[in-house]
Order: sequence, then C-alpha cells, then structure tokens
Amino acid sequence: MAPLGVAVLGSTGSIGTATLRVIARHRERFQPVALTAFSNAALLADQVREWRPAYVGLVDAPAGREAWRGGADCLEEAATHPEAQIVLNAVVGAAGLRSTLAALAAGKRVALANKESLVVGGALVAEAARRGGGELVPVDSEHSAILQCLASSGGRPVKRLVITASGGPFRTWPTERLDAVTVADALQHPTWRMGRKITIDSATLANKALEVIEAHHLFGVPFDQIEVVVHPQSIVHSFVEFADGSVLAQLGVPSMELPILYALSHPERLDDGGVTRYDPVATGPLQFEAVRHDAFPALALGIAAGRAGGSAPAVFNAANEEAVAAFLDGGLGFTAIPEAIGEALDTCSDLPGISLDDLLIADAAARRCVRERVTAARGA
Ligand code: NDP
Ligand code: MG
Repeated sequence: MAPLGVAVLGSTGSIGTATLRVIARHRERFQPVALTAFSNAALLADQVREWRPAYVGLVDAPAGREAWRGGADCLEEAATHPEAQIVLNAVVGAAGLRSTLAALAAGKRVALANKESLVVGGALVAEAARRGGGELVPVDSEHSAILQCLASSGGRPVKRLVITASGGPFRTWPTERLDAVTVADALQHPTWRMGRKITIDSATLANKALEVIEAHHLFGVPFDQIEVVVHPQSIVHSFVEFADGSVLAQLGVPSMELPILYALSHPERLDDGGVTRYDPVATGPLQFEAVRHDAFPALALGIAAGRAGGSAPAVFNAANEEAVAAFLDGGLGFTAIPEAIGEALDTCSDLPGISLDDLLIADAAARRCVRERVTAARGA
C-alpha cells in the first residue's frame, strides 16, 4: 500500500517537528506531501530538502521566492492539496481555523493539534465535517486519551470526562506571588516542552479552558459532565467515567509523539519504539489535586465562555492570544492576562456568533479591546 499523504501545517513548530520525527519512523505508512510555516524559512528549507513535498507554503514569505507559495491562503491550499489524505494542523491560534474548515469540507482526515479551531468555530467545524465527509481526530494528549478510552464504550454516552492538567510552573506558588511572575518563570513548564503560546496558556490554565471546550465539541459531552483535576506528573492523560461507574484512563510518558502517532494511525495502533516507555516504579506516586481557581481565574472564565456559546469562546480565545502576546512582549503582567480576558468578555458580550464572519468580527473586537488595555498600561 502506498504511504498516506500528510499535509503538515505549522511544520516548523513544536508539534510540527515532532510530527516529522514520528513520520520518519513510519516512512512506509506516511509521506509529507505539503509543509507550511509562518516565517521560519531556514528550518522549512531543511525540511523541504529532506522530504521533497509537492507543496510548500511560507505565510510571511519575502517577495520573489520561487516554488514556495506565500500569504495566509497557503494554509488552505495545503489543507486541500489533492495528494493529502491527512491534514495535521499544528498552526498556533485562531489563524488555523480556515484550514481546519477547508480540510474537513474537502473530506480529509484532520489530525487536530490546533485546538483554537474548535474553540472558536466548534459548530462550523462540525458542519464542515458533515458536509464534506471529513474526520476530526485529536492530537491534544488529553483528547487522544479520551478517544482511546471511549473505544471500549460501544458508543454509549459517558457519565463524566475528567481532564488532567499539570498545574503549570506556578501550581504551588502563593496567589500573591503571581503578580511578580516573569516571562522566564512562565516559560519553564514542569513536564512538557512546547511552543511559547501554549506554554503560557498552561501557566495560566487558559489552556485547560480551551481543552474543556475542545472536549465538549469533539465528544458531544455537556459542560457539567466535564471536570478538570490537577495531576503534576502528566502521566495520566485523562479519565472517562462510564454509566456503570467504571473509570478508564490512558497513561504514558509526557511526549506528544504518542498522541501524534495515534492521530495518524487511528483506529489502528502501530509499532513504535520512539518514546520512552512508562515505568510505574521508576515514576513513583501519581498525585491528583483540586484546581486553585482563585489563583488561576482564566480556567473558569473560559469554561463560562464555552457554556455561553455564540461568540463568547471566540472572544475568550482572541483576548487570550492577544494578552499572551503582550505578556511575552513585556506589555502586560502575568495576572493581567485573565483580567484582560474578563474585560474583553464583558465588552464584547453581545456580538453574534453564528457565521464565520461573525466569529472573525468578534475575534477582532476582542483583540482591539486587549490592545487598548495594553496601550493604556504602557502609557501609565
Ligand atoms: P509553535 O509555536 O511551536 O509552532 C507553531 C507553528 O505554526 C509554526 O510552524 C509557526 O511557523 C506556525 N505559525 C505560527 N503562526 C502562524 C500563522 N499566523 N499562520 C500560519 N502559521 C503560523 O506551536 P506548538 O507546536 O506548540 O502548538 C501548535 C498547536 O498545537 C497550538 O494550537 C497548540 O495549542 C497545540 N498543542 C501543542 C502542544 C505541544 O506540545 N506543543 C500540545 C497540545 C496541543 P514559524 O515557525 O515560521 O513561526
Ligand atoms: Mg493538552
């Protein structure tokens, strides 16, 4: 059988490079046929030399580069490329939404790392999959865990999803110390090595809010049946409780290569020796703790936005993206991130959120709101 063609969107990032490492161990099964990056032309060129893909896109391309496509449209072109059966969307942020929609509408399997797609446009994503016959398979480790646990349920509804969270670098910090958090502190994630945006999201727990909304859309589970528990070792990737009271969990060392491989091979499992094996004795005790909502208000804000629906999740996501960028740039303090999100949710609360245009308008309004706050803070 010929290898399946894979379009890797965001191939130069943390998930993109991990995906190419996984594919390198399974060349007989998968072949990168399209690669895209935002601006990292040097790494993209290395990847192109190794993989010779049919399509290469660099969004922020300097004029005059031959053979490579440029501009934001290249994500959709890669996502609908005729040689791609699987689209691994590892773009960061709402910028990944259009390509998720395009790939599903074109009937592709979307291996989705770009959770922001589902958060912003959950209903549109489901509609695109229905219309085009595309299939959505999560790459996010918690959702991969849930998908793997659900394989035993015979399709019956679940009673509860329990999503684990590492708790981030400030899990044990007193709340009053969080005002003084530096960018370097926040980028020190205890268990995962990831891109900068999701690393900050993990420190504020905004990432867990995105994941609760993601789980709601992927598995059709109501918000009041989705819980979050802190698990500092990041070995249990999530739990599913069934109607009879039985609880299943999926375990593994914290490496994204496991859920990436599963998203590519689902429902099959492939032999793979690339990831350190889980050793229960060497790892030692597994701990579970309640979330400290007072210290990490972004989680409750995001879940409330998910429950509210309409444009609220898009506003939450865009405000978070903008606030995280400002924090990384020195324009906002760490505890101002959830404050800025809360302000944007209040300001943009009555915007419609049905069509893609509605959602893009809400996204832009939320970003403006946060930018005004940042400008005011810089002037103060
Ligand atoms: P990175 O920042 O490491 O990589 C992002 C990739 O997307 C890069 O290839 C980057 O290109 C490209 N990119 C950035 N902005 C744009 C844009 N506006 N348009 C097109 N391409 C763009 O992110 P991660 O790999 O960490 O995360 C990717 C996604 O996966 C996120 O949605 C994240 O939440 C999710 N995820 C990540 C996990 C992880 O372990 N890293 C775990 C679970 C989910 P360039 O390099 O040129 O800037
Ligand atoms: Mg995750």
